[in-house]
Amino acid sequence: MSEQRVRAEKLDATDELAGLRARFVLDDAVYLDGNSLGALPAAVPGRVDDVVRRQWGELRIRSWTESGWWTAPERIGDRIAPLVGAAAGQIVVGDSTSVNVFKALVGAVRLAGEGRDEILVDATTFPTDGYIAESAARMTGRTLRPVAPSQVPGALGDRTAAVLLNHVDYRTGRLHDLPSLTAAVRAAGAVSVWDLCHSAGALPVGLDEHGVDLAVGCTYKYLNGGPGSPAYLYVRRDLQERFDSPLPGWNSHAEPFGMRRDYEPAPGAVRGRVGTPDILSMLALEAALEVWDGVSVDAVRAKSLALTDFFLECVAAYVPAGRVECLTPDAHAERGSQVALRCADAGRVMARLIERGVVGDFRHPDVLRFGFTPLYVGFGGVERAARVLAEVISSD
Ligand SMILES: *Cc1c(COP(=O)(O)O)cnc(C)c1O
Repeated sequence: MSEQRVRAEKLDATDELAGLRARFVLDDAVYLDGNSLGALPAAVPGRVDDVVRRQWGELRIRSWTESGWWTAPERIGDRIAPLVGAAAGQIVVGDSTSVNVFKALVGAVRLAGEGRDEILVDATTFPTDGYIAESAARMTGRTLRPVAPSQVPGALGDRTAAVLLNHVDYRTGRLHDLPSLTAAVRAAGAVSVWDLCHSAGALPVGLDEHGVDLAVGCTYKYLNGGPGSPAYLYVRRDLQERFDSPLPGWNSHAEPFGMRRDYEPAPGAVRGRVGTPDILSMLALEAALEVWDGVSVDAVRAKSLALTDFFLECVAAYVPAGRVECLTPDAHAERGSQVALRCADAGRVMARLIERGVVGDFRHPDVLRFGFTPLYVGFGGVERAARVLAEVISSD
């Protein structure tokens, strides 16, 4: 047995989160794609069955009140809140991340006020954030300026209205410095908008602690909410009264059943709602979030770093030198919960890995992406993934 295999057994034996894997439906595959679609929590199928058969099938319209459907967006927001370091009453769940980026960014420009004519956006952002930012800039008459996150402090100034950044880069897995960038944005008098898609559920975010203004994130990656599960929007409490959503629907009205002609925004996080929430996905997400009961995000972060460290160690030990190049920073302070490896013929390599039960994903043109969800990935799986990767690459 290799030295790494022995180490994996020891690491698994002392892993205080190892038991959480039983809260998921999994098989023998090494599932390293939870940063794209989290695995199915075991409590979800039964809950969805109840929501469909009893709540919808039997209670029908009564469920809007009796089953808590109407208040689900803010109730589930409060369930996500501790995972991203937010006090209750600041997060609302609903719509997609793309739609919430739009609400947050236009809302941010409006909060910044007239006279600030520039929006900064992460130049390496996930495409949808960039497309939406371009449209938001056009609609609000601002200029969009793409900048590398590390260049943001130098690019900030009197003209900056809002800054849209990713906490973790979806491609490289680089973790950006949210506390210091948020402080710089604030010092310039601009409004920060953070996209937490690749950090929430994998590492501490500290939204309240670091004074983040607005944030969005999806729930189907490290939060395991299921395909297309609704996203969320965070509006810091002291900004809520001035938050002017560009999508004011009847669900965010102060009196939704007053059916009034004039729009009066509801107080609090509810102001981020738009129309009728997709209850089936939303309540599947609510059941999925139960896997977090009793779990500390700090423990998750510690295991995440141990997993990625161990993966890098195994890759270095097994994969012939020069065949892969790691794009993910080595420093813990700059690493999310994934490892991105550049590799020749990456698309074909990933297809062979998947055939052999090691599931990551391929990102155009030459990146192998491996996501590590500490709730269900173990060290034995990590060792196996690196070993199979080495075999696939060496068999060419
Ligand atoms: C996954 C992801 C999205 C997804 O947006 P959807 O509207 O849910 O499709 C957006 N932004 C980032 C940074 C992501 O990683």
